[in-house]
Amino acid sequence: MLGWLATATAMTPLKDVLEPKAARKIKESLGASSVGELLSHLPQRYAAQGHSLNVDYAQVGESITAVVEVVNVAKHQAHEQQNVTWKDKARYPLRVTVTDGVRTMPMPIFGQAWLGNVLHPGTRLLVLGTLGEFQGQPQITNADVLVIGADGQPGAATGKLKKLIDGADGMAELRGLLALPFLPIHRGRKGLSGILMALYIRRVLRWLPRQPEPLPEYPGALPGFDTALREAHFPGPDGPMAALNRLKYDEALELQLALALRRAGNAERVAPECPPVGDGPGRVAKLESHLPFELTRGQRLVHEDIARDLSRPTPMNRLLQGEVGSGKTVVALLGMLQVLDVGRQSVLLAPTEVLAGQHARTISGLLDDAGVDAKVVLLTGSMSVGEKRAALLDIVSGEAGIIVGTHALLSDGVEFFDLGLVVIDEQHRFGVRQRDRLRERGRDGMTPHVLVMTATPIPRTLAMTVFGDLDVSELKELPGERQEVKTIVVPTVEKPTWEARAWEVIKEQVDEGHRAFVVSPRILGEGESVEDNFDLARRNLPGVDVGFLHGRMSPEEKGAAMADFVSGRTSVLVATTVIEVGVNVPEATVMMIRRAESYGVSQLHQLRGRIGRGGLPGRCFMCTETWSNTPERARLEAIAETNDGFQLAEIDVRTRKHGDVLGEGQSGLTAGLGLLNLGEDVRVIERARKDAAKLAASDPDFARRLTYDITDEEAGFLDRS
Ligand code: ADP
Ligand code: MG
Repeated sequence: MLGWLATATAMTPLKDVLEPKAARKIKESLGASSVGELLSHLPQRYAAQGHSLNVDYAQVGESITAVVEVVNVAKHQAHEQQNVTWKDKARYPLRVTVTDGVRTMPMPIFGQAWLGNVLHPGTRLLVLGTLGEFQGQPQITNADVLVIGADGQPGAATGKLKKLIDGADGMAELRGLLALPFLPIHRGRKGLSGILMALYIRRVLRWLPRQPEPLPEYPGALPGFDTALREAHFPGPDGPMAALNRLKYDEALELQLALALRRAGNAERVAPECPPVGDGPGRVAKLESHLPFELTRGQRLVHEDIARDLSRPTPMNRLLQGEVGSGKTVVALLGMLQVLDVGRQSVLLAPTEVLAGQHARTISGLLDDAGVDAKVVLLTGSMSVGEKRAALLDIVSGEAGIIVGTHALLSDGVEFFDLGLVVIDEQHRFGVRQRDRLRERGRDGMTPHVLVMTATPIPRTLAMTVFGDLDVSELKELPGERQEVKTIVVPTVEKPTWEARAWEVIKEQVDEGHRAFVVSPRILGEGESVEDNFDLARRNLPGVDVGFLHGRMSPEEKGAAMADFVSGRTSVLVATTVIEVGVNVPEATVMMIRRAESYGVSQLHQLRGRIGRGGLPGRCFMCTETWSNTPERARLEAIAETNDGFQLAEIDVRTRKHGDVLGEGQSGLTAGLGLLNLGEDVRVIERARKDAAKLAASDPDFARRLTYDITDEEAGFLDRS
């Protein structure tokens, strides 16, 4: 409601508008004590006259409000008998059947046998009840009824409805409600029925002075704010859509304004300038010329984006999106070296300790191989006190040029010498607030540059909201001459012959002059260590030269094993996931992954990305001991079926055990009225984004008055996304 809730009218206490008893009731049942709070409870749905029994929107157990006509009334025999007590009569219901003109439903009424003499076919009723189910058919239970006379006058009533019309002007109001083209349906609460809520809201709206239009401009097809507010509660003959769309637009605009102002605020911050130092002394140039591969066009473009941003005195705020294997790390590394070239530090934040460790190793490896002088320091929560102390010292003294770690790095007690750049890998686990915390870590009150990287394709709407204050760069293609990799799940226990066939394929490929990887889990024992699989490979591939590579080998041994494989002295390499990163062997056409079930979705995808790079198609065998019809097996089969990053992200979301993924944020915003749906309202959000940018640029003070900067609550929401 565009800051409307903060206006004096909206903040008027309900007890100044309604009688004290009503205000108390609303406070107790809804927790609302101001006009704005009550009005922000929009109806759950609206029943068009004659369609009030539409149960498609209601669930069993929910309260329903309806205007219906009696179709039939069947008294129980017991109701007719003189010698039956009232108590006994109450055990048998009056079998009433009602219709709204479209649907017909039973409405058994207990304990009100006298109604049998009042209700006849054709009698109109207002009903408050609960949607029930009997033998699979919907019915209305616990019904309170009010007879509506032919002239619209109230007749006999029961229960809550009787109390309601006995109240001061209850009946007149009720009659007004019944005459509307759409009846607002609110969920009833304890002590406050849906119909009473509608009545109170109607009273408040009658009191509410005409609201001034807050926006100088809004999409022409939409009604003004005052109309929208009223008609969202009590729609005119055309229904509630236009009103709701206006409120949705306002909600989207508020969010987009907050983001636009955030951008503007960012522009006012001062960042450490890190211009490129040029070819001679620069680490950037040195790494570039010593990389074991050529940067792709996409990587060069993104590198330019980042290099330009880093040179400026305003903080970079950039999102780098690119699927697994698209080569984001090296691009980020070039940025970090640019920062180091002017003597400042960079931080690379990973979502897990494992990934942090992996990054530190990859980066150190690349820098060592290129002979670039830079100290890379790892800092994670599980390091020993001594290790941590050494790392912290390197960080505060400026000795450490590149600091890699998990969010342990965000904790107090980590002091930087001169932080120039923060790179966040896998953004979706870091919220807006965490990003903000890092921004305070620069030297002399400066704000470090921020680069966030994600492999998860972000739906457009989310990109415009949660990530709406970021500039976006994309890596669209994978590096190298990539060919489709065909993935086959090989159940080693269920189908031993498949495994034998997989080894045959490897032999055939090797005989044709290609190479193969056998990826082995890190675990020892269980016959699946690198050593075990080395033996297994030699048994299954007689006459083939097999090498091996694992993390416990010395750097020299590792280098030699890798060099042998690259040169072709060995044609098969049995290795741990160290090959996941930094290995480019175009001759490799086939891969066997042992115990594939023990890897994550993106890890498997990244592994198979090692093959099919030399213009030849690749084949990946995912060996597994899982059984068919288990979730683990289903996950592997799903991964085997697609190479598409978006679908893989979906699989990841579906099968991940922790609920820390994008999905949640798409169900709707908690800020504002929560009308906006990130899954559906792309067009509203796009329009609001455009308008917000214009408004924030032309009149920032006005924009600020319309909204507030992202409040704590909203930041919380964005975090949860
Ligand atoms: P991600 O985007 O998933 O983080 P990485 O940065 O880990 O991807 O890169 C995946 C692999 O591709 C790494 O082994 C990396 O060394 C390699 N790589 C990166 N850029 C190129 C390139 N231009 N040509 C060939 N291989 C590349
Ligand atoms: Mg990565």
